[in-house]
Amino acid sequence: MVFRIAVLGGDGIGPEVAAEAARVLEAVSSAYGHTMTFETGLIGGIAIDETGSPLPQETVSLCRRSDAILFGAVGGPKWDDPSASVRPEQGLLGIRKALGLFANLRPVRLNAALANASTIKPGVLEDTDLVVVRELTGGIYFGERGRRDGGRTAYDTMIYTEAEIERVLRVAFELARGRRRKVTSVDKANVLESSRLWRETALRVAQEYPDITCEHLLVDACAMHLIRRPASFDVIVTENLFGDILTDEASMLSGSMGMLPSASLAEGTLGLYEPIHGSAPDIAGKGIANPIGAILSAALLLRHSLKLEQEAAAVEGAVESVLADGYRTGDIAQPGGETVSTTVMGEMIAGRI
Ligand code: NAD
Repeated sequence: MVFRIAVLGGDGIGPEVAAEAARVLEAVSSAYGHTMTFETGLIGGIAIDETGSPLPQETVSLCRRSDAILFGAVGGPKWDDPSASVRPEQGLLGIRKALGLFANLRPVRLNAALANASTIKPGVLEDTDLVVVRELTGGIYFGERGRRDGGRTAYDTMIYTEAEIERVLRVAFELARGRRRKVTSVDKANVLESSRLWRETALRVAQEYPDITCEHLLVDACAMHLIRRPASFDVIVTENLFGDILTDEASMLSGSMGMLPSASLAEGTLGLYEPIHGSAPDIAGKGIANPIGAILSAALLLRHSLKLEQEAAAVEGAVESVLADGYRTGDIAQPGGETVSTTVMGEMIAGRI
């Protein structure tokens, strides 16, 4: 079987880290006897420079005929004018919409070798291994908004249909079945009507998964428990705005932006996989970016789009083994400690598959 992978590097360090993720997928192909083809496409600032659009139609077509998408990052000071009519991030929002990527998965697993990198005490973090599933195409970011009273009153609308809530909850429950079988559904059902519909739907869907423990938390309580007892969570599922905030909070448990992967899934098996960090213009072109977030995103690609669990685990194991041996890029090194480049880190991990 031939797997077709679209590679959208984007801007800044995006292409540098995406190239290392592709290198690791190539190593997986040859070690496990798969065939993967890699085709690159333009997105973000570089696409604006070359075509005038942050998301050329050709890129959308490339993604549609691919099995999965490896994404780097978009944006940078060159395109930063907030009043510009075309902006790099429109490329990312556009591709999410065009492909119907409604569920965003962000796993946070503490790496024993980096336990001291977080600002949270190591004892609290011990055994932390969770995934936040964030609804990505509904809620307040997509509801009606506007101004009244000559601009002096502003409103945004949080709106969800039962179907939108149900499909993302199902992603979370299915995911929990392959993990520790616990789902925490997060809402604000004591105040918001959209959250009451969320809670009702979660209670109903949970009945179909008697093998999964389901707890319901208010978002404010969840924010507190995330830093008080992070190891007690397995799968957290929530709507778009709450998820936006909780995923950033959760990412800080691990201590480094450069380490964390994400997956954005559509119905079926198509998905887009990207590190959670941005284009890091301050270090772009220097060959020092940490490629591990992108490489762990490639592991999620293997798991969720290609259904190659053993290969996904092999990538995660290779990352752990390279870190356990002390190899570090600058962002995760001890002050004054030895560091390796983006490429060397990628080659080391690929070499251990
Ligand atoms: P950023 O994540 O790009 O960088 C924040 C800090 O973390 C910087 O100091 C950077 O050097 C460091 N960093 C990030 N990734 C790293 C890595 N892999 N290795 C080592 N260090 C790393 O966030 P920012 O500075 O707020 O944003 C820069 C640009 O990226 C902006 O244009 C922003 O809009 C864009 N952005 C894009 C995405 C995306 O494409 N999904 C996400 C966030 C930000």
